[in-house]
Amino acid sequence: MSMRSYIDEAESALLHTYNRYPVVLDKGDGVSLYDIEGKRYLDFVSGIGVFALGYHNEEYNDALKAQIDKLLHTSNYYYNVPAIEAAKKLKEISGMDRVFFTNSGAEAVEGVIKAARKYAYLKDGKTDHEIIAMNHSFHGRTMGALSVTGTPKYREAFEPGIGNIRFADLNDFDSVLSQITDKTCAVLMETVQGEGGIHPASEEFLRSVKALCEERDILLILDEIQCGMGRTGEYFAWQRYGVKPDMMTSAKALGCGVPVGAFLMTEKVGAHSLQAGDHGTTYGGNPFACAAIVKVLELFEKNGVLDNVKRVGAYLEQRLDSFAKAHPEVKERRGTGLMQGLEFDRPVAPYINAALEKGLILINAGQNVIRFLPPLVTGEEHVDEMIGILEACAAQNN
Ligand SMILES: *Cc1c(COP(=O)(O)O)cnc(C)c1O
Repeated sequence: MSMRSYIDEAESALLHTYNRYPVVLDKGDGVSLYDIEGKRYLDFVSGIGVFALGYHNEEYNDALKAQIDKLLHTSNYYYNVPAIEAAKKLKEISGMDRVFFTNSGAEAVEGVIKAARKYAYLKDGKTDHEIIAMNHSFHGRTMGALSVTGTPKYREAFEPGIGNIRFADLNDFDSVLSQITDKTCAVLMETVQGEGGIHPASEEFLRSVKALCEERDILLILDEIQCGMGRTGEYFAWQRYGVKPDMMTSAKALGCGVPVGAFLMTEKVGAHSLQAGDHGTTYGGNPFACAAIVKVLELFEKNGVLDNVKRVGAYLEQRLDSFAKAHPEVKERRGTGLMQGLEFDRPVAPYINAALEKGLILINAGQNVIRFLPPLVTGEEHVDEMIGILEACAAQNN
């Protein structure tokens, strides 16, 4: 069947919640994707920060195949070895104490909201606690995660949300202070805002919020779903500043393609929040998903993925800075490691469409920002190839 016929079939069967790019992807290899007509694309999106190890990693694929033949699912009423190993490894790399596995990022966000409310409830028995989240944030599409998402257009048609959410501005400590009340139980933010246009929290802001939270026994929750798992050169973006949260979320690259997420907490929260019967999931933490996590973390270590992100991330930054300098339509480069954004003075859709045509997969973050989230195994030669195509797109759009 031709690509066009597949697309027509898709549009007559799938609920139209995405304006998809006109390409049917078929297979991947390393940092390359191929459509069903065999055309190659250099991938600078990695399925929105998911495929950290690149495509068709044999060791990863073999580990999944072996687990399929062994045991796919048990339910959480029984122990399974991959979940135990995955939790142990996650504790090691994060320094957190307790792990709950979910099936997605949004579910991890739901989990931290519940844990924060329960923590506060156990202190004073009240049910009117508030959470402060950030404007322009993105935390997922389920009702709780949507309620803490600071982009009104995502929320409006679905109001009322879960309630008792207040919004402050990232990197504006006074705006956080002005939202604090005696009901505040948590402050939630992405350590680096992704969908909102690649805005890193500043170290000073994070430190101030952390100090305030400690002083008032408010929980600091960091959403590391997009910026975590090596993307900024450390396992988790907050480790660059050494500002440890009370709870954090992970997903996306955690399973490198297998749908899985997690929320983690310190012992302080673990011992005084969700207890037996308070929270659950049928699939979350199943042996298949957890075998993926175990192998991903093993390969991160074995292949020096964090070092590669530091090295190639610095190179990407430098090339994007030069690009920005040479193109007055670029207003700013933001980001760290292999999580970068270029803000233009105009909509970036024409650039992204032109890039696709020329065999480069890019994505936006808001109307005016091109977002770069390549696989974490991307090399400098791929950065050069990407910049070459971006230059051609820019020439075409001027
Ligand atoms: C993608 C994302 C989510 C939602 O994850 P899903 O797996 O799509 O539910 C939440 N928070 C952040 C920061 C994200 O980037």
